[in-house]
Amino acid sequence: ISALELTQETLAGIKSREDKVDSFLLITEDEALATAKAIDEKGIDASNILAGIPIAVKDNIVTKDIITTAASKMLYNFNPIYNASSVDKLHASDMVIVGKTNMDEFAMGGSTENSAFKTTKNAWDETKVPGGSSGGSATAVASNQVLLSLGSDTGGSIRQPASFNGVVGMKPTYGRISRFGLIAFGSSLDQIGPFSQNVEDNAHLLGAISGYDAKDSTSSKVEVPDFTSKIGKDIKGLKIALPKEYFGPGIDEKVKEQIQAAAKHLESLGAIIDEVSLPHSKYGVAVYYIIASSEASSNLQRFDGIRYGYRAEDIENLEDVYVKSRSQGFGEEVKRRIMLGTFSLSSGYYDAYFKKAGQVRTLIMDDFAKVFEDYDLILGPTAPSVAYDLGTQSHDPVAMYLADLLTIPVNLAGLPGISIPAGSVDGLPVGMQLIGKAFDEETIYQVAAAFE
Ligand code: GLN
Repeated sequence: ISALELTQETLAGIKSREDKVDSFLLITEDEALATAKAIDEKGIDASNILAGIPIAVKDNIVTKDIITTAASKMLYNFNPIYNASSVDKLHASDMVIVGKTNMDEFAMGGSTENSAFKTTKNAWDETKVPGGSSGGSATAVASNQVLLSLGSDTGGSIRQPASFNGVVGMKPTYGRISRFGLIAFGSSLDQIGPFSQNVEDNAHLLGAISGYDAKDSTSSKVEVPDFTSKIGKDIKGLKIALPKEYFGPGIDEKVKEQIQAAAKHLESLGAIIDEVSLPHSKYGVAVYYIIASSEASSNLQRFDGIRYGYRAEDIENLEDVYVKSRSQGFGEEVKRRIMLGTFSLSSGYYDAYFKKAGQVRTLIMDDFAKVFEDYDLILGPTAPSVAYDLGTQSHDPVAMYLADLLTIPVNLAGLPGISIPAGSVDGLPVGMQLIGKAFDEETIYQVAAAFE
């Protein structure tokens, strides 16, 4: 099959399923067909497993000459003049971008209901949320519109929607992938990562987008391995830790049962399973909402009605340009984060909030470091529940924030974490999270593959 034929079939499949799931903000049909044609003319490199494969990209990852909105009215008309480095890498691997996926505005949220433009539905049940913020990227893969997509994860935005849609989603080690061209939310936490239908595909895509980039000073020079190298290898003797905090109150009993059954499966394959403690993980949500919001309040200053995107019309003076453009351009949740962040960074409160949060972040990192002295991996649920009904949590920000308690500590510590399907509860998929040592995504994929 040629890249063009595959792209045509994929586009037809996207359109036939789009009414049901609403994964996409933009389907880039013309660009995709042109790219595929060019790949066919150049000739497909048989050694490149990703060549000619269609992929969807979350709409906070900038694409040259393709409108990129981060699902915000603020950027409704933003037409980037450059590609994110990860997008350049997709092109370098001869992949075909077929569209930009829906998300929570500026990646702030956990259900994709904060999009300024549309509501994405869970691929298993259209009355349920798809999770978020990378909800569109997850449903596009789960509903078989595409085999692969990119998302971003600041506090769980790849792993939680992967969990809610029964697909594989990886948040790589901080620094593994260049953030250049990822519209910044919390710069010390943000990481781009792959969604896929199976573990091996995920490892291949991660390989394609990883590596040092001079345009992102936080990208790492650590060598990029073959992430598939351990897939299929015996897991006998691997030491896997179950943090008791990840099986405590607030986690759905039926979800816990599925994860415990998964741990038993690994034990039957020869892994050594023990209970451990991550005593400071209970502070993760509080610490995260101070750090992520503080960084966001700073990152979002650039949206001033002058340089990018939306500008209010009823303007009388310069202050109006800022105040009205920002008041009208940003949604409610984004404003809430800007206010929270500005407050925690303000003089008089900085020591009590931002500085303190940084100190507790170190304690959370130390908890992980201690466990990883003795264990290869940490295992637990990805989210405290399965997907819930659309419209039921969007009015209660604190309830929504608490839903990230199992994913957030991983971002705070900069570690890699994956969500893979692990059974179902009431007909909806359960996600299992595997957390690895920094820059050891290979062991995560090795154990994840033991479930396929
Ligand atoms: N749900 C979390 C938040 O609202 C995480 C979002 C993300 O990872 N981008 O901040």
